[in-house]
Amino acid sequence: MSTYFDHNATTPVAPEVVAAMAEALASTFGNASSVHAYGQRAKAAIDEARSSVATLIGAEAAEVVFTAGGTEADNFALRGAAEALEARGRKRLVSSTIEHEAVLNTCRHLARRGHDWATVPVTSDGVVTAAALEGVLTPETAIVSVMHANNEIGTIQPVADLAAMARAHGALFHTDAVQTVGKVPVDVRALGVDLLSLSAHKFNGPKGVGALWIRRGVRLAPILTGGRHERNRRAGTENVAAIIGLGVAARLALRHLREEAARLETLRDRLERGILGTVSGTVVNGGGAARVPNTTNISFTGVEAESLLIALDLEGVAVSTGSACSSGSLEPSHVLKAMHLPSGRAHNAIRFSLGAGNTADEVDHVVGLLPAVVEKLRSLTRLPAGAGA
Ligand code: PLP
Repeated sequence: MSTYFDHNATTPVAPEVVAAMAEALASTFGNASSVHAYGQRAKAAIDEARSSVATLIGAEAAEVVFTAGGTEADNFALRGAAEALEARGRKRLVSSTIEHEAVLNTCRHLARRGHDWATVPVTSDGVVTAAALEGVLTPETAIVSVMHANNEIGTIQPVADLAAMARAHGALFHTDAVQTVGKVPVDVRALGVDLLSLSAHKFNGPKGVGALWIRRGVRLAPILTGGRHERNRRAGTENVAAIIGLGVAARLALRHLREEAARLETLRDRLERGILGTVSGTVVNGGGAARVPNTTNISFTGVEAESLLIALDLEGVAVSTGSACSSGSLEPSHVLKAMHLPSGRAHNAIRFSLGAGNTADEVDHVVGLLPAVVEKLRSLTRLPAGAGA
């Protein structure tokens, strides 16, 4: 049995999305800026997708700008706001310490070019509190960026409270909602944010397409200049087939959002209970906070996460770690580090992220495999009696 439990990395493309994109590539090839019928057909298809994305997040279609994915949407929000607000003396950027690299490295880059970047710490459960944010807001703050849910541990941030606080200080608020849109209900008005990023491939759409929602009235400097596409906000001939795919994925997600979230939560809880009940020395990271329903991040005491990932892969089970293996040293994830977990716990953490198509049988299969796999890895690292004295 092969089991895919890595849906926070990416999801399989829904068959309806594949069919719509194949049809679009074959027949909707016009340039959406062209006046003739071919162009107008492409433009109509893009408009339909824009409406579908807007409906999914409770927005107006005109507020949705298509991008080449979540990374570009995050870059657009931060670079666009930084440039637009610089002239007003607002040069401070604020982000949490557990943002995705698309936010962190963009802030880092802007800081090198003269912006002032402040980070907000998280609790040991991986949550940004309003009190922590208050401590770093200044009258010079241009934009605050706090993700809606974390990709590694799944914790949902109190975005509405944080956004209200940022806006009271005259700053824009951006949320990276790449891990929530299409998985749980997201309403931009209820969140009270100014900017929101989403990405199609996290909810059964294609890779390389996403959107930045820009609240009506918010001015950003464009990061891609050229033609007058996307109402002058993002230049470049539109990727019509990918945008159509995003639109279909948005409609599919909306149709089953609440039932699918409840189904995945039941499966995730079954997995978590099963693992904690059968494998000793296990603990859930971020388990005390509100989380997206599909994600659990578990540390296995005495087991190097990368070894467990590989051992599970050999059994046909795909999971992930937050660690990056670079030049032979295993760096624990910046998210787990920011939570100040004991160092072992950060090195031993595995993320299981469930999605459409996963079943209770798969959960039981993985729970059944783990005790022996973990015991084998632990026995390999245990010193023989009498050795190493
Ligand atoms: N933000 C978060 C929270 C993510 O999980 C990801 C993808 O892993 C991204 C941004 C980047 O999105 P994309 O892969 O569409 O560029």
